[in-house]
Amino acid sequence: MGSVTNGKTALITGASRGIGAAAARAFARDGYSVAINYLHSHGAATKLKCDIESRGGKAEIYRADVTDFDSVEAMVRSVVADFGQIDVLVNNAGIAEQKLFTEITQSEWERMLAVNITGVFYCTRAVVGEMIARKSGKIINVSSIWGITGASCEVHYSTSKAAVVGFTKALAKELGPSNIQVNCVAPGVIDTDMNSGLTEQDIWAINESTPLERIGTADEVAESILFLASDKADFITGQVLSPNGGMVI
Ligand code: NAD
Repeated sequence: MGSVTNGKTALITGASRGIGAAAARAFARDGYSVAINYLHSHGAATKLKCDIESRGGKAEIYRADVTDFDSVEAMVRSVVADFGQIDVLVNNAGIAEQKLFTEITQSEWERMLAVNITGVFYCTRAVVGEMIARKSGKIINVSSIWGITGASCEVHYSTSKAAVVGFTKALAKELGPSNIQVNCVAPGVIDTDMNSGLTEQDIWAINESTPLERIGTADEVAESILFLASDKADFITGQVLSPNGGMVI
């Protein structure tokens, strides 16, 4: 894995576990140098970096809270110092919460939007200047099917993920003339820690309403992200690719 580098660097937010970690492994396997952003999980991020390096890949870890613009800017400066430039930004960091709308507090609402959409703005804002100057770059945002269809008891999450779709489409229009592709993935239900609260009965019900009769894996989402980052997707921008097993068609 990764022993032949493609000379490109991908910064992936929230990459110490789940979809972000799967994306880090997939990008490294494809020859990217991978900048692994994490918030708290220094140990998991370090282990991921070591795994990638043991397979001949290149990776470095960067602690930053995506809701803190100063630390995001510092992280981006460090990645550029270490790897030269950022060719791909994957805005993956996110939080979820299931609650009745009438029980969502002001601070829960604000935190959801801060991480899931303001964080996307901060990271993109910090990275995009150099992409514009180079007239080249790819930005992939991680939304959700719930940002498309809406989910009961997840109004704040659904709102934030719908915002990611709007952000993606608007920015794609603005940055197209700079040859920067901005797309998003909107995964269905994926087997990660984010869904650790699902009961067997919940999973049975999800499988029942999914044509492919199962939930997805982080690796499957990572492959969609990797495709959108690749040259094969050079004529694709402003789109929503939804690895969801047919749950939303
Ligand atoms: P996860 O909880 O395993 O991963 C989320 C990651 O984001 C964690 O590593 C977490 O530490 C990081 N993070 C959270 N807040 C952060 C912050 N302020 N700064 C930096 N990092 C932060 O869950 P996952 O399923 O891997 O989720 C990844 C993305 O995929 C999220 O945006 C999520 O909304 C989206 N998504 C997940 C599913 C699913 O079913 N698992 C479906 C659709 C979309």
